[in-house]
Amino acid sequence: MKKSIKDFDLNNKRVIIRCDLNVPIKDGKILDDNRIIQSLQTIKWAISNNAKVIILSHLGRIKSEADKKNNTLLPVAIRLSNLLGFEVKFVNETRGSVLENAVKNMKPKDVILVENTRFEDYPFKKESSNDENLARYWASLGDIFINDAFGTCHRAHASNVGIAKFLPSAVGFLVEKELMMLDCVVNPKRPFVVILGGAKMNDKIKVIDNLIEKSDYALLAGGIANTFLTAKGYDLKASLIDEESINHAKELIKKYPSKIILPVDGYASTKYEDNLKVNYYLLDNVDDNMMVLDIGPKSVDIFSKYIDSCNTVFMNGPVGVSEFSNFEYGTKSIFEVLKKSKKIVVIGGGDSAAAAIRFGYKDSFTHISTGGGASLEYVEGKTLPAIDAIENK
Ligand code: AMP
Repeated sequence: MKKSIKDFDLNNKRVIIRCDLNVPIKDGKILDDNRIIQSLQTIKWAISNNAKVIILSHLGRIKSEADKKNNTLLPVAIRLSNLLGFEVKFVNETRGSVLENAVKNMKPKDVILVENTRFEDYPFKKESSNDENLARYWASLGDIFINDAFGTCHRAHASNVGIAKFLPSAVGFLVEKELMMLDCVVNPKRPFVVILGGAKMNDKIKVIDNLIEKSDYALLAGGIANTFLTAKGYDLKASLIDEESINHAKELIKKYPSKIILPVDGYASTKYEDNLKVNYYLLDNVDDNMMVLDIGPKSVDIFSKYIDSCNTVFMNGPVGVSEFSNFEYGTKSIFEVLKKSKKIVVIGGGDSAAAAIRFGYKDSFTHISTGGGASLEYVEGKTLPAIDAIENK
């Protein structure tokens, strides 16, 4: 078990908290502050325990000088100040005398937000390559390191893995909750059902293998299901199919003949667009030039029988193109079935988490993960480097 922020006496200590404040920003305006809100519990705990709080976070990717202009954390500092009700001091550099003086002048309960850690990625990729000197420098600013950025825990960067080597370390409340909740899926109460949707099978092949093996039933949808259906001899015409993965899908069907459950009907258009005519099809009878972009009611019925018969569900990826109102039916319906089922339901991060929140299911499930790649790797049973780097109790 990992050390928790609660295990340290924070009084008068310089506490570096690695948060995930990577929020969508357009023209300087924050479009969704969910990640800032999710980080508050740990920040507030440190403040109430009289710490000097130094926050590190990344924002977007930095591959040029121009990227720096568009990815400053300044708007986040302003929003964080509003949410906390006092001024968070924003330091517009990732190292240097301004930062060092700001830290030197801190009093207990002060909060500093340091500029985007990935500014160190241009031109030398120091953050993403876990540069040891950079990690040592950031560590020199604090007395204790807290990792509360679950979304980056599958990456070994200077601000999460490197820094932990040089300071006493623990996880924050957000990471602690993620690990506890995702453990419901790592060691599921059976029967265990996984729902795997999304676009490209190729991107997630290891995860798919792993989760199908681990589950009692795997309900497949989206581009993944299209590829499996094609492997079974269906002709889905213009639908998204991963040609390279068809043989692999055939092997999985052979290996798990009764575990893999596929949709039988769906909604389709002629293009990957939202405003065209929508046709309903049984999937053994799709017209030429049509692209299946969502599952239909018969598939929802089949999936709901498996959901009702299980104890734990893990869902990754929307079952249709839920960003388009024409094709949100399947994903919304499955969320509704999951909500009513009262089972242990964990939604993996990324697109399915965003859809759950967008459709009003934020508080309907056991857990919605804040980390896409990180939650998948953890559920797969992989060690997350940034968790591994934290001290054990
Ligand atoms: P992923 O990143 O693999 O989880 O994919 C998420 C994306 O898959 C979302 O943008 C969905 O719109 C898309 N998606 C879901 N179902 C389909 C489908 N039947 N055809 C094409 N894209 C899909």
